[in-house]
Amino acid sequence: MLTATYDLRLVLLSIAIATIASYTALDLAGRVTAAIGKGRLLWLIGGAIAMGLGIWSMHFIGMLAYNLPIQMAYDPPIVIASMLVAIIASGAALFVASRKTMGCLPLFLGGTFMGLGIAAMHYTGMVAMQIDAVVHYNLQLVALSILIAIAASVTALWLSHRMRSETPGHSILPKIGAAVIMGSAIAGMHYTGMTAASFQLIPQAITPSFPVMNYSLLAVGIAIATMIILTLALIAALLEQYVRVQLSSAEVLRHSEQRFRSLAQNTSDIITILTANGIVTYISLSITSILGYESQDWLGKKAFDFVHPDELAKADRLLADTLADPAANIRAIMRFKHADGEWQDFEVIFNNLLDDPSVAGIVTTYRNVTERKQAALALENRIRQQANVAQLGQVALANTDLDSLIDRAVDVIVQTLAIEFSAVLELQPDNLELRLRAGVGWLPGLVGNITLKADSSSQAGYTLLAKKPVIIEDLRTEFRFSEATLLHNHRVVSGMSVIIPGSENPYGVLTAHTTQRRIFHPDDVYFLESVANVLSTAIERKQTETLLAMYKLLSEHTQDIMLFTRMNGEIIEANDAALKAYGYKEKEMRSLTLIDLKATPKQCIIPSQTEQADSIGLVYETLHRRADGSTFPVEISSRSTLLGDERVTLSIIRDVTERRRFEQALFREKELAQVTLQSIKDAVITADTFGRIKSLNPIAEKLTGWSGTEAENVALKDVFRIINESTNEPIESSVAKLLRGKQDDAFASTTLLIARNEQQYAIDYSAAPIRSREGEIMGVVLVFRDVTLSRQMARQLSWQASHDPLTKLVNRREFENRLQQAVDTAKYENQQHALCYLDLDKFKIVNDTAGHAAGDELLRQVTKLLKSHGRKSDVVARLGGDEFAILLYQCAIEQARPLAETILKQVQEFIFEYDNQMFTIGVSIGLVIINSETHSRDTALSLADAACYAAKSQGRNRICINTENSLQSIN
Ligand code: GH3
Ligand code: MG
Repeated sequence: MLTATYDLRLVLLSIAIATIASYTALDLAGRVTAAIGKGRLLWLIGGAIAMGLGIWSMHFIGMLAYNLPIQMAYDPPIVIASMLVAIIASGAALFVASRKTMGCLPLFLGGTFMGLGIAAMHYTGMVAMQIDAVVHYNLQLVALSILIAIAASVTALWLSHRMRSETPGHSILPKIGAAVIMGSAIAGMHYTGMTAASFQLIPQAITPSFPVMNYSLLAVGIAIATMIILTLALIAALLEQYVRVQLSSAEVLRHSEQRFRSLAQNTSDIITILTANGIVTYISLSITSILGYESQDWLGKKAFDFVHPDELAKADRLLADTLADPAANIRAIMRFKHADGEWQDFEVIFNNLLDDPSVAGIVTTYRNVTERKQAALALENRIRQQANVAQLGQVALANTDLDSLIDRAVDVIVQTLAIEFSAVLELQPDNLELRLRAGVGWLPGLVGNITLKADSSSQAGYTLLAKKPVIIEDLRTEFRFSEATLLHNHRVVSGMSVIIPGSENPYGVLTAHTTQRRIFHPDDVYFLESVANVLSTAIERKQTETLLAMYKLLSEHTQDIMLFTRMNGEIIEANDAALKAYGYKEKEMRSLTLIDLKATPKQCIIPSQTEQADSIGLVYETLHRRADGSTFPVEISSRSTLLGDERVTLSIIRDVTERRRFEQALFREKELAQVTLQSIKDAVITADTFGRIKSLNPIAEKLTGWSGTEAENVALKDVFRIINESTNEPIESSVAKLLRGKQDDAFASTTLLIARNEQQYAIDYSAAPIRSREGEIMGVVLVFRDVTLSRQMARQLSWQASHDPLTKLVNRREFENRLQQAVDTAKYENQQHALCYLDLDKFKIVNDTAGHAAGDELLRQVTKLLKSHGRKSDVVARLGGDEFAILLYQCAIEQARPLAETILKQVQEFIFEYDNQMFTIGVSIGLVIINSETHSRDTALSLADAACYAAKSQGRNRICINTENSLQSIN
């Protein structure tokens, strides 16, 4: 066994190097942490090299301090390998140690890794030893050495981290302490490791492959090199730190200067330093932005030169106070003049620092409080306005009459806004004009009288059109309304107007005006609108109250029953008529439901009906019961509506007993009339005022051939077709005339009705208008009857009265009538007629020979013969027996005589055959002229008779003309 000795100097050197390396390592770990990016990597690599080299050189020097009593040499590549191991381990340790935060696990892992690294380096270094001995290791000591290495590494990492986080300053002592501990630990590990090894000499000496050097010198050399490297690293670190500190303090300075500059520029305060006399020795630049001055405008002047004259005394007093009590902090509000001449409010704070040598003046700050003051004023104004509106609202609620309220409102406006004019303009019902109902400030006589057009010629009219507040800044430059005469006449400059709203149309316009130029604040407009709303509400309430009173009066005085009910039928309210009609007291009534009033309560209104009542109202009839049990028919008209949030139904109930009675009477009457019409023998047609058929009774149906239903609404003239019997002309029925307002004519007895099948009926008819109670024509009634039979009979009777039944010629009486007419026309119209009087000769013979029937036959044949000569207008008559007469109208004697002769001749030649017997007869004719001389009918007849008698007596079968009282016989 070899006994080793230590070179103590080298041992100490190795420990010193370990300590310095540790210090460097601790410092470098901080650098790596602070650096970022590429810098960090460089620091990590540099640090790893410096630290690794430090540790390695400590070991190597420690190894060199170890002397064995044999020759020792070292294998350089292994030595270099051990150095690399140290560098790698250091790099890993630095990496771990430089982390910003470190948990327990990274600390132990990092420490273990480094400890193992150091151990590896150590034992690698041992391997590099080339000696003629076998190395034996005491394993326990080896393990201890490794543990020490790990513990030292963990401690080092922990210390470096802690130092960084706890002592960021420049305190160097703790770092040195830590470096010493760590250095010792590393050295401790090394020397424990060395103790673990024991060497046993090998008998055959091995010739060292490397030259044996002077190890002391080598150790010193390595130590110096290591020192240099470590020192360089430390210097680099220190330099870097210095630069960093310099840089950061410059940065801080720059930042603080910037902050200060922006503070000075943006401050809302002005700062001055004054002398005891109030002279400005310093002024902040903010003077320009705040008060518009340049610094030199103030410097050297008295600060109070810029104070409002009214406040100079106050300013002087404040300055005196400040001087008297340096400790006091004196504040006041003062007005200062802006460079543009406007006065602005400032809060001024005086700070007496005359005794402070660094200031030696009174520091004053001025803060602009103009806006604050204006805001405070505006707030005050608003509160006052609101209070006034509230007060007006109370007045309105206190049931003041409308006129007083409106007067009060204009007063309040004028006072609150501090203006001269206010007006309430009422929109007239025609919506065309506005009347100045109330106002303040206007010339006498205008209020209550003047009206403005509700169009854009006036501001008020324009306000109605614009439907929003209208504000005038300056009337002289106003263009929205064309005239505004009233305002111009009162020299108004500014003003505003708002609508006073109404339920349908606006009630009118509320205005506020002043002769001063003024820009009205939105609060002012809001105030005016609030007053308008108070007025609107009051007006509406008044109107509602009036309406309510009217409705109350109505419900009290109407004959109709009025009931307000809930949806379940409960009666809420009943009017006097209801109480009277049902016989209940008011309280009793309110305890009932609508169903209780029904005569048969089980029959309720079906739901669909109630729903209907919601929308369009419901009308139905039913039977109701009074308190005394009696019932009466009612007509109920109900409609439901929302009153507040409850749906109620108003039912108006009418007692229809009378109406029912009347209806029944009417019905009976109608029935009666109907039955009558059906049963009478006359035909009856009714038509309306347009001449359209309304009804036909059965007889009318039979005669016209139209059924009632077919004929309805058909024009009367198409159903009742009538013509004149003798002319066949259509007759305009008197119905049409009646409808035209003419009187009913006496109807002709010659009317024929033409039925639908063209059958004709002789009818008699009459028409009469149907008039309403007021006398108005509502239609016509036409009554007619079939008179065909009676008219035939009458015609026969009249014919019989004027004709001879045997020959069918007119008889004597009729002939005398005709003759009379002829005599009349002769007399008055100077006409001439002829009259023949004929008597058959020897007629009796026929009678006697062939019988009376033969005589009759002869008379008929003679009649035929006589008639064959006359003109149509001539009249042939049988006067009696065998006497005939012919009246020749408008016939002179010259024409009459040949005619008489022809007749005479033909009768002479006429052979009457009867029963195989032949007879001849003759005729004696008396001819008379009828002219204006003719005295009368009877004269004419007797003259003719006489002429005939003369002809007979002269031998028969001849004509005798009776002229001018002489009888002249022809042949
Ligand atoms: P004379 O030549 O003088 O006229 O005589 P006469 O035979 O025509 O008889 P006269 O005129 O004197 O009398 C007319 C007669 O006619 C008298 C009467 O018996 C007869 N007679 C009168 N009416 C009718 C009559 O209706 N039918 C018939 N067959 N004979 C009648
Ligand atoms: Mg005769």
